[in-house]
Amino acid sequence: MRIELPVPFPLKTVNAWLFAGAEPALVDCGVNDPVHFQDLVDAVRTAGVDPAELTLYLTHGHVDHAGNAHRLHDGFGVPLVCPREEAPFVETFRRDEAPRNDAYADAMRAHGVPAADVERARASSDDVDALLEDCPIERDLGDGARPAFGDEEVTVVRTPGHTPGSTCYLTDDNVLLSGDTLLERITSNAVELADADRGAFHQYVETLEGLRRFVGVECLPGHRAPFVLTDAVLDHHLDAHAARRDRILTLLDHPRSGHAVFRRLFPGLDGDGALFMGMAEVVGHLHALELDGRVRMEAGPDGVRRYVRA
Ligand SMILES: [Zn+2]
Repeated sequence: MRIELPVPFPLKTVNAWLFAGAEPALVDCGVNDPVHFQDLVDAVRTAGVDPAELTLYLTHGHVDHAGNAHRLHDGFGVPLVCPREEAPFVETFRRDEAPRNDAYADAMRAHGVPAADVERARASSDDVDALLEDCPIERDLGDGARPAFGDEEVTVVRTPGHTPGSTCYLTDDNVLLSGDTLLERITSNAVELADADRGAFHQYVETLEGLRRFVGVECLPGHRAPFVLTDAVLDHHLDAHAARRDRILTLLDHPRSGHAVFRRLFPGLDGDGALFMGMAEVVGHLHALELDGRVRMEAGPDGVRRYVRA
């Protein structure tokens, strides 16, 4: 059962998926918000499920998918089951807020974002960080595991990239809970800005290619309505990434910083959230091109990294 919850992002809503039955399971749970949480609990109860009986699974630990995990845990004793790789997003997200935002700020400066813009983006990160409170992970979840969702068992399909521990769940009747790894019309990405995240976008594209094996299944995505996975859906996303990559390569006929690429790639894109997401997109591409040997990086005397076609 789909429970659609509001989120304060352009996507507007996020999906939580409830499996009633012998072992009630909830997949994802919306942003940290007392009103949305009450809506979620009401929907669970309306479906005849006692919230205290739930186990919470995640497609990944982003705030819009895991933000109410601590409320379920603290209020109803609901255990959180997800890959350990998601711990920085769900278990230590608030604890490590300062070092994480320092690392993002350092990365922005290294990629040429002006100091004043870095400071503004940093100040605005508090709004997003408040959308989740830390929640302990009760149990890890490995690829191929078979947790019970309601009255059936499902297969865990690890799909790293969007986040390191991004996970899909495949039911035995070929329904795939695809999280943000695969949406129908919105091309997902990896948030890759700090050096520690190097390779995430590269990995995400490989994961997308790997989803060809599921063509024909019905997808229950993290946002919007269910859809059937076709080659055309995958081609659409892969082509969008390839087009952006080619455009970036064209821009790198002479050395440019990530921020210089960002300004040309997204002219008019403004606001601090847009700067963060746009830079994460650009840096992901630059790192992937570097990994593929198609661009090389030159660190300037000003400490700013510039990239040029190899
Ligand atoms: Zn996400």
